[in-house]
Amino acid sequence: MHYESVIGLEVHAELLTQSKVFCGCSTRFGAPPNQNTCPVCLGMPGALPVLNRRVVEFAIRAGLATGCTIAGYSRWARKNYFYPDLPKGYQISQYELPLCLNGAVEIETDGVFKQVRLTRIHMEEDTGKNIHDAHGDASLVDFNRCGVPLLEIVSEPDIRSASEASAYLRKLRTILQYLEICDGNMEEGSFRCDANVSIRLLGTTPLGTKVEIKNMNSFRAVERAVDYEIRRQTEVLGAGGALVQETRLWDPDREVTRPMRTKEFADDYRYFPEPDLLPLVVSAEWVEAGRRALPELPDARCRRFVTQYGLPTYDAEVLTQRKDTADYYEAAVGRYANAKALSNWVMGDLLRVIRERKLDAALVIHDWPVAPERLAAMVELIDSGEISGKIAKAVFEEMVDTGRTAVQIVAEQGLTQISDEGAIVAAIDSVIAANADKVAQYRGGKDKLFGFFVGQVMKATQGKANPQKLNELLRTKLDG
Ligand code: ADP
Ligand code: ZN
Ligand code: MG
Repeated sequence: MHYESVIGLEVHAELLTQSKVFCGCSTRFGAPPNQNTCPVCLGMPGALPVLNRRVVEFAIRAGLATGCTIAGYSRWARKNYFYPDLPKGYQISQYELPLCLNGAVEIETDGVFKQVRLTRIHMEEDTGKNIHDAHGDASLVDFNRCGVPLLEIVSEPDIRSASEASAYLRKLRTILQYLEICDGNMEEGSFRCDANVSIRLLGTTPLGTKVEIKNMNSFRAVERAVDYEIRRQTEVLGAGGALVQETRLWDPDREVTRPMRTKEFADDYRYFPEPDLLPLVVSAEWVEAGRRALPELPDARCRRFVTQYGLPTYDAEVLTQRKDTADYYEAAVGRYANAKALSNWVMGDLLRVIRERKLDAALVIHDWPVAPERLAAMVELIDSGEISGKIAKAVFEEMVDTGRTAVQIVAEQGLTQISDEGAIVAAIDSVIAANADKVAQYRGGKDKLFGFFVGQVMKATQGKANPQKLNELLRTKLDG
């Protein structure tokens, strides 16, 4: 039996507003527990919500960037349930009439392009956080996150594999980061995903019984969990069993999904219109203003990098995956136009340093260890023959560690490349004189020894000999 997997994703993205969605409390992550709270977000009787206009603005931006229709009239709803991290006993959300409808996100897997349709994007408020492992047997609750604005982005069941799910999430995150409305940090929970997975016989259309998976906090976890779940469902049906509609939790240690609740215990949220807030009316002018303010989006920027800078598609994709990286690259190439060399440095050494130093939550290029114009100046030093590519690696590390410029470091440490032929020839002569036996072997046909001589001359010049000149001169000396 051949099955096809069917996946729909529900993403929750925390918005980067300064204050919460219905009160003036700060949204800052990492504040002392319960500091960012007030009667509104703690749900005190009589406290009334006031809508934060920025939240609507951000949601409009997300909707426009994903091709949604923005509803001129939408409504707030109460989603009722009991849980200790929800002091009001309900979340304010949108239900029947959400703000954004019918969008799409284009993904690419193995060179194949595909549209994943979006059912809707709506706004809601986040809950607090229960903390179970910080205080012996007791559980603690932190209400700082209560009322932090969220977008819920719901896809149609258009995704067919774990790698498509991952490609979709990455693309969506990139778009939200370009819009500067969400930092997309999965580990900190500002970008979260629940996956709905079912399978059906290949060639049939009705949807199979779906399982909702929660508790995945990295792209890798989503991929592993979806893959596991497809395998599990295939085995159950293959053995003649039946699937139950349920919610399962991903267990990252055992790499399995475990049942959390089944349909009999499924949520009944008793949604009803929120009586404390007016329906949301968004004018056509407001939507148009949002459209005009949209930045260049990742796909368009990627295509432009290929045409404007002549970069390979691969480079353009890596460089535009994050807006900060793309901004950094363009600032550097604006200073010095060796586009490919700068691309290599950004994709290689710079992104490695940023990864190693865990700097990748920063959305601003100014915080990066080496300012773009400084990287550009360093590449210029290589191109002008002032330093070798090999020395440049060490200079770059030094720039990161000390915050000094390449010119300063090269001058202070005497790293200027030796391109003067006389000096290189002198070094070659002394190496040849000191290794008469090896010279004989080389001339007798042991070609591999060439590398040995290069190494010795490099050593004699503290790595500063111009490698190209060194190679040429050495060949003439040894072969000639
Ligand atoms: P619920 O009522 O349980 O919230 P929805 O119909 O609203 O379910 O869908 C929630 C998410 O699950 C959407 O992303 C949707 O695409 C996806 N989904 C719905 N049915 C299936 C299915 N049979 N298999 C896989 N995904 C599904
Ligand atoms: Zn508050
Ligand atoms: Mg639903």
